[in-house]
Amino acid sequence: MAQGKLGLNTVCTHTGEVPDEQFQGAISPIYLSSSYAYEGVDVKRYPRYFNTPNQEGLSKKVAALEGCEAGMIFGSGMAAVSTTLMAFLQKGDHVVLQEALYGGTYNLVVEEFEKFGIEYSFTEGLSEAAFEAAVRENTKVVYVETPSNPLMKVTDLAMIGRLAKKHNLVSMIDNTFASPVNQTPKDFGIDIMIHSATKYMGGHSDICAGAVAASQEHIDRIWNLAKNFGGSLSDMTVWLLERSMKTMALRVKQQNANALAMAEWLDSREEVERVYYPGLASHPDHELAKSQMRGFSGMMSFELADGIGAEAFLEALQLIKPSMSLAGVESTMLLPSKTSHFLLGEEERARQGISEQLIRFSVGIEEVEDLQGDIVAALKQTAQVQPVN
Ligand code: PLP
Repeated sequence: MAQGKLGLNTVCTHTGEVPDEQFQGAISPIYLSSSYAYEGVDVKRYPRYFNTPNQEGLSKKVAALEGCEAGMIFGSGMAAVSTTLMAFLQKGDHVVLQEALYGGTYNLVVEEFEKFGIEYSFTEGLSEAAFEAAVRENTKVVYVETPSNPLMKVTDLAMIGRLAKKHNLVSMIDNTFASPVNQTPKDFGIDIMIHSATKYMGGHSDICAGAVAASQEHIDRIWNLAKNFGGSLSDMTVWLLERSMKTMALRVKQQNANALAMAEWLDSREEVERVYYPGLASHPDHELAKSQMRGFSGMMSFELADGIGAEAFLEALQLIKPSMSLAGVESTMLLPSKTSHFLLGEEERARQGISEQLIRFSVGIEEVEDLQGDIVAALKQTAQVQPVN
């Protein structure tokens, strides 16, 4: 088990808890000091050094969940992504990134890397040949994100692990969509796991945070830059995130089950043109997903049939909220063409297969029957406004 000797729920509940030596309380006390003694101590603690008692404790939980030696907690997913990438790239280096990354990561690369003299290539497709074709003499890092947003395409992690070894690259994955409950990329030879902890780790749409897990050597290198970039998380939020992560496996397993049931149900509806969920046998990457994921996550997307107004449908929903972020206990939907992928423009969206009818669905923990009831009622209302052809 990637989680080490303890089982998944035990790690979520207990690993890294800060002992309450004074009162023997059942949960971690919260240490809010931003100033600690410097004389006669082994460790000079300071929040921006990522080493307060709560930061250290939660880092251990993240590391254990990913089966790694060490971890770090950041102030946002993007603080984790940017610090980790920049820690392994310098002027004259090149990085290979898979196509169809999270928009914020894409923006970081295309808006910032040139001024640091860092070269980059996005792959054309997710095949081994596509990654091989992008590698250059000066490539230092390969960066992937699987399943991808919003079409849930799956990248072959064992292939990436082999490619990184062959070309002596550091391999990194944004493991946000799967969460460590469903996927532990280190099992396939990936070096560094990055999370927007705002998503499944937080799980209640009330925390913005990031996390990284890797070997101690890699974490030391990330830490060297992180203390200068300063993207640490306040201990108040670290403590809240620890609280959230105790139930992460319970939540995510329920979200996996709900998403599979919803994907099968949506697939059977005539109002739905197509469902993108790697848990469905009809998904082109289903076999690959089965080989590297324990569950298929709560994320999916689907295309409404032509003639059903996607915006009117979202407005008609009562229970499922139209909302930007994802992975909370509450179900949410959004239109990628109007939000995350708006800036790509119509032509590029069409090339990537992101139509105006495509809806991204983050499935929560509600009862499946209630979610289905909400969708049926909204479809009915939409059809009244705009009859199905
Ligand atoms: N990675 C993925 C896959 C995401 O979906 C997000 C945010 O939506 C991020 C990274 C960035 O995380 P944050 O918003 O916490 O900075």
